Amino acid sequence: MSELNLILFGPPGAGKGTQADRLREDFQLPHISTGDILRAQVSEGTALGTEAKRFMDAGKLVPDEVIVGMITDRVADGDARDGFLLDGFPRNEHQADALAEALSSLERHLTAALLIEVPDDEIVRRLAGRRVCVKNPSHIYHVDFDPPKHEGVCDQDGSRLLQRDDDREETIRTRLEVYHSQTEPLIGYYDESGLLRRFDGTRGPDEVHAHIRATVATLRLEESL
Ligand code: ADP
Ligand code: ADP
Repeated sequence: MSELNLILFGPPGAGKGTQADRLREDFQLPHISTGDILRAQVSEGTALGTEAKRFMDAGKLVPDEVIVGMITDRVADGDARDGFLLDGFPRNEHQADALAEALSSLERHLTAALLIEVPDDEIVRRLAGRRVCVKNPSHIYHVDFDPPKHEGVCDQDGSRLLQRDDDREETIRTRLEVYHSQTEPLIGYYDESGLLRRFDGTRGPDEVHAHIRATVATLRLEESL
């Protein structure tokens, strides 16, 4: 069977989690979100979580040595053998090289790097209004753009909605700077290898979804030829 080994990247708040939740269902792919994995470690109070939290709260990247092994092991897991949707990794060239090496040692390769583009002023509005379900982090809302039916309550499971600690104005600015200096160079990196696919993330969630889904369906067809 053809594999879909996909990464989803773009600035914080571009809509990666929102789209990943939909694509996961469309293509039956495990959604591997480094942010969600790290936040789960923080709430469990593990040593890794305690180490990571300092960086996350400051809006900085968690050091590569904390994250790279965790993700390269994860893509080799059974449920990711036929493909995966990586969200939030890689975030710099060192991580991108580590992912390529890990896949190559498994005789696999990346199918595409899906970039969701959104300008900075829109990002600030999105992150400041983001609310996330305490029970399931893939249930994502926005106070204006995608409000829940009842304020502060998840439509899907009735749990409370919270604002993430790092979705505060000062931290958002730092995260954007980190994105531009460390993650944005990956656009050139994946463009050179022909893997880059760009999407206009300023459209509504349904429209962005339709565009990405059509591209991924084509990629799947090409992989199976
Ligand atoms: P965003 O909404 O910015 O896309 P994420 O949930 O992906 O947020 O990430 C939240 C935080 O977790 C980041 O600001 C960073 O501190 C840490 N993090 C997530 N993925 C990585 C990674 N691949 N490398 C380093 N740090 C990461
Ligand atoms: P990321 O995972 O890239 O950080 P999220 O998927 O968590 O981004 O989305 C960030 C915020 O923007 C959330 O509040 C979400 O409801 C909202 N959002 C996502 N996609 C769109 C869109 N296309 N238009 C408007 N708001 C959106």
